Amino acid sequence: MRYDLPEFLAHAVALEQEATERYRELAEVMESAGNEPVAEVFRDMSRYSALHRDDILARTDDMELPILRSWEYRWRVPPEVGEDFEPSAMASPYLALAYARGNEIRGMRYYQDVAQAATDAHVRHLAMEFANDESSHVEALDRWIARLRLIDPATVG
Ligand code: ZN
Repeated sequence: MRYDLPEFLAHAVALEQEATERYRELAEVMESAGNEPVAEVFRDMSRYSALHRDDILARTDDMELPILRSWEYRWRVPPEVGEDFEPSAMASPYLALAYARGNEIRGMRYYQDVAQAATDAHVRHLAMEFANDESSHVEALDRWIARLRLIDPATVG
């Protein structure tokens, strides 16, 4: 994955936009499942993703960003949920957190790969910074999964 700056920023904006929407969806699912604490986690994650997206957009100035294919940035569902993303299938807080975690890891690896392949110093620097952000999101989700394990070990499997 060797990108120039506009290609890289386009991917980063798309990843953050996707995360903003999926986290908002997960927050709603948790809310209707009556799990306010986990709904709150997802609302926070959605807000951070939106802030990050806006922050990246602010760096694009008047650059023209390429249009991406959706498979390049869409979240993927875990195998236990099936091919089609059905938010209601995420009613289990553990499944929802595991789903989010899987996608944060994909995002982190994506940025790490870009950083490694980058010939452009600016792209490399930003990709490393974004990979670190994603790894802190993975850690936040891990803390929640550990918490669930304490509260209700049966749901975590
Ligand atoms: Zn993230």
